[in-house]
Amino acid sequence: MSLTGDYDDQNVFAKILRGEAPAIKIFEDDVVIAFMDIFPQSPGHCLVVPREPARNLLDLSPETASAAIQRVQRLARAVETALQPDGLVVTQFNGAPAGQTVFHIHFHIIPRWADKSLGRHGDGQADTDELKSQAERIRAALI
Ligand code: 5GP
Repeated sequence: MSLTGDYDDQNVFAKILRGEAPAIKIFEDDVVIAFMDIFPQSPGHCLVVPREPARNLLDLSPETASAAIQRVQRLARAVETALQPDGLVVTQFNGAPAGQTVFHIHFHIIPRWADKSLGRHGDGQADTDELKSQAERIRAALI
């Protein structure tokens, strides 16, 4: 299958964007929605999802790519302020062989602590109250 084209609007992020599936939201505007990853690799792992229906970065319009990375930077700063990690990973996967599992463009923001190893990608659902509390702290740190 080609890396581009064939957007399927039944993917879970499309459902979250349409309000058909739940999400613990941190932030939303006309370009993106940001929410907690329910299978976090690290506490505070969150996702920035452009509203534009694109499978991946190769499909995304330059305008949305540019606007989305500004939201990623803003959220990364808020995560840093709120959770005080030692490092922050920002990732984005294109195609299943690259690790993509949800085929709607998204960016991961993953806090890292020097003494904590990273969980496996998409492994183990987090406690909802913990995710809500992290989202609240990150939201409060948004500037
Ligand atoms: P990908 O592997 O496509 O880059 O990342 C997809 C991410 O979405 C994974 O980190 C996975 O944990 C997360 N994820 C999968 N399903 C859901 C869901 O229903 N809600 C939320 N909030 N995250 C999800």
